[in-house]
Amino acid sequence: MAGRPYIVGNWKMNGTRAMLSEARAIDRAAQRHMKVEVALAPPYTLIHAVHREVEQIGVGAQDCHPGIDGAFTGDISATMLADAGAKFVIVGHSERRVGHGESNDLVREKAQAALDAGMRVIMCCGEDAPTRDAGKAIQFVTGQLKASLPEMADAGERLTVAYEPIWAIGTGNNATTDDISEMHREIRKLLVSLYGEEQGSAVRILYGGSVKPDNAKAILAADEVNGALVGGASLTADSFMGIALAA
Ligand code: PEP
Repeated sequence: MAGRPYIVGNWKMNGTRAMLSEARAIDRAAQRHMKVEVALAPPYTLIHAVHREVEQIGVGAQDCHPGIDGAFTGDISATMLADAGAKFVIVGHSERRVGHGESNDLVREKAQAALDAGMRVIMCCGEDAPTRDAGKAIQFVTGQLKASLPEMADAGERLTVAYEPIWAIGTGNNATTDDISEMHREIRKLLVSLYGEEQGSAVRILYGGSVKPDNAKAILAADEVNGALVGGASLTADSFMGIALAA
């Protein structure tokens, strides 16, 4: 069984130190709602500061380089992120896959680097609108995941999968709960086939794409939905915790 509902905020390229008050407010609210696991992925520049300010919530990163160190100007390694206080790394977000041309192989290497540095991984996947319209969403997403997921013996503890249809991210368009559950059931089957019944069943599968306080209850109640990856609505404590309270 996949444990507590997991609600993760992805601040993307948003936030200066002025946002630390939101992180503190999220942390205080999370301490009152322990049946939900809450985490934040602020930009690199705030990871250490958020880590120092909070007690309850998990702090993670939005990406990492696959290497340990070296001449990679502007990149950040998983080891550095762990040193800054990150406990997980989001890899394979569509804004990296599409916007930065990241291949499945690179995403898998990044996931492996995060695991090797002792962190957990949130692996994103999702189809674009033409792929869904062509009736190929399930085939695409399961193929993308198969090629991006690393081998691991402890997937249940350390892996989370986030299904985020590209056409739903930041657009206000959600997938229907039936479509979400259909995809999550296929992802579950794949996880069990890759990692075995016990580990594959324990991996949490999050939905992401325009999750807001007013639609969160229905989405989070859908079959095989174990939480949410939240972009825009994670930027204020009120809206983010409105989603967490719906879980
Ligand atoms: C995301 O990019 O991970 C995301 C889900 O964004 P939003 O909630 O803004 O659609």
